[in-house]
Amino acid sequence: MPTQSISTFTSVYGPVKSWRYGTSLGIDPIGSVSTCSFNCVYCQLGEIQIRTNQRQIFVPTEQIICDLQPFAPWDVDVITLSGNGEPTLALNLGEIIAQIKQITHKPVLVLTNGTLLIDPRVRTALSLADRVSVKVDAVFPEQLRRINRPIVEFNWQQVWQGIQQFRQDYKGEIGIQTMLLTSWDERSKQRYIELMRSLQPDEIQLNTPTRAKPLTHQLEARGNHTNADSLPYPVQILKQVSSDILQTFAEEIYDSTKILVRCAPHLVNS
Ligand code: SF4
Repeated sequence: MPTQSISTFTSVYGPVKSWRYGTSLGIDPIGSVSTCSFNCVYCQLGEIQIRTNQRQIFVPTEQIICDLQPFAPWDVDVITLSGNGEPTLALNLGEIIAQIKQITHKPVLVLTNGTLLIDPRVRTALSLADRVSVKVDAVFPEQLRRINRPIVEFNWQQVWQGIQQFRQDYKGEIGIQTMLLTSWDERSKQRYIELMRSLQPDEIQLNTPTRAKPLTHQLEARGNHTNADSLPYPVQILKQVSSDILQTFAEEIYDSTKILVRCAPHLVNS
């Protein structure tokens, strides 16, 4: 089993540029061993090292607050919790969000794959964030298994139910992030539109893989890499859809739902 190498690990990284959220300081509550309930085929971290739904404290809150200090006065648009896996697996998630906000007075964003939203304790912790971006790459169970490759404990219906419950409770801004590796057929597109119409997120972000996938786990892949040629480790270039396909789908979603849809602005590997 991979082990944590705390000596080389720092829980704060960046700032990185996000096409949606501006300049962002990254917070990693997971640690040096990638840990997630998904193992997405396009994951920028490479193959996930530990696949689990077990929540625990990976990085003590005091360590994160200590790692945050050298970045003062935190001249960024947002502070983002994501890092080396699924941030809602961190049992100290709520405490981390509350302390970051108290110290930095910056908005806090959490990027989540949504699998743990079925747990009311996770929803309560996430309610402290100003923005939450939830991954929805699949509208059918088979698609979830193929793209996100969840651990066996999760099925599509249960994940969607958790997302719906979170939407009902949450007072902050909720975005849905959807990654397209290929053009979707009409049935999948209509199903997605129906789901978004019922969910009513504040916005939808359509994306396609602009980051190459490392062949082995790379902690530094937490940051902002877009040019595969300049990476110091071997990578797999992933399939992308064209900006025309993204844009056309975005217009279809908007026309049917009136929900704001943003598309990833550039495609580096096409
Ligand atoms: S949910 Fe995120 S961290 Fe987890 S495997 Fe997918 S892309 Fe990687």
